[in-house]
Amino acid sequence: MSILVLGGAGYIGSHAVKKLVEQGEDVIVVDNLSTGYRKAVDARAKFYECDIADGSAMDAVFNENDIKGVFHFAAFSLVGESMEQPLKYFQNNTGTMLTLLEKLNEHDVKHLVFSSTAAVYGEPEEVPIHEEVPKHPSSPYGDSKLMMEKIISWVSRTTDLNFVSLRYFNVAGASKDSTIGESHDPETHLIPIVLERVLGKREKLYVFGNDYDTKDGTCIRDYIHVEDLIDAHILALKYLMDGGNSNIFNLGYNRGYSILEIIKAAEKVTGQKIEFEYRDRRAGDPSILIADSGKAMDTLGWQPKHNKIHEIIADAWNWHQKNPDGWMTDEKAD
Ligand code: UDP
Repeated sequence: MSILVLGGAGYIGSHAVKKLVEQGEDVIVVDNLSTGYRKAVDARAKFYECDIADGSAMDAVFNENDIKGVFHFAAFSLVGESMEQPLKYFQNNTGTMLTLLEKLNEHDVKHLVFSSTAAVYGEPEEVPIHEEVPKHPSSPYGDSKLMMEKIISWVSRTTDLNFVSLRYFNVAGASKDSTIGESHDPETHLIPIVLERVLGKREKLYVFGNDYDTKDGTCIRDYIHVEDLIDAHILALKYLMDGGNSNIFNLGYNRGYSILEIIKAAEKVTGQKIEFEYRDRRAGDPSILIADSGKAMDTLGWQPKHNKIHEIIADAWNWHQKNPDGWMTDEKAD
């Protein structure tokens, strides 16, 4: 029996593939390489370059493999971009979900672990945010994921599908052995951008907004190590396979850092002074996102192991120093 990882060539998906193969699982990866990199995928996994929206290609994947569970990481995930191109998000994320759910049903796949996001909450009514806090997404990205959750939930009531939706807060860091890490083109996430600035890969570091209602006026986020995040996925699949009901969990550390605190922590890790400039707020950004992950701990038995911001940044730094261009080399996505 195999585990299918959709979007296994992306930042988070590639870390899942690595950990699963290290645990002896048989892993199948589907990725259209629109934002992922072939070389990020562990060589022990079986790789299909295809699009989830392509029903007949997905039929082949399910027919050729005996799949016991699916991790679904394949989606566009940029708040800022989604404000400019909402349809790209609703089509690629939400629209594609319909085909995927049809295929899971046709091929009798019963377990789905879905990548959701803290962006479903928008500007939260309560902090830390537990799963029942009202959802008012402030971007098409957040809404595309909330719609996907709702669609999965309705389908799960009428079929044998059981799902776990994991609402990630801000994922960062790299594998502990620094063989894989975060690489996007273009990069928009704070920690890699700060580290690229230190490496001289960018001329400027901009802090988007210093007039938020937070301790230093900059946005606060709950940064979670990618290794801890993947542990939660593996526990979620086990939970479903052991007969657990469909469920939703927040994943973060119950602790937030402002952008200025992240820059300070990065200065400490890298030993370098990091200059920045303030810019206007970035559209769609909530001021503060901090997770209450008590439910994941209680129900899944999830225990974070790397919940120190300096460790997260140090692991990212190790990867970036070794790979200053990320996966972007001449043989991009070979
Ligand atoms: N941010 C910033 N400068 C950058 C990139 C991000 O000030 O070059 C801010 C962004 O506006 C947000 C926070 O850092 O307040 C985290 O953004 P990121 O894109 O890393 O994650 P998101 O919270 O959007 O998922």
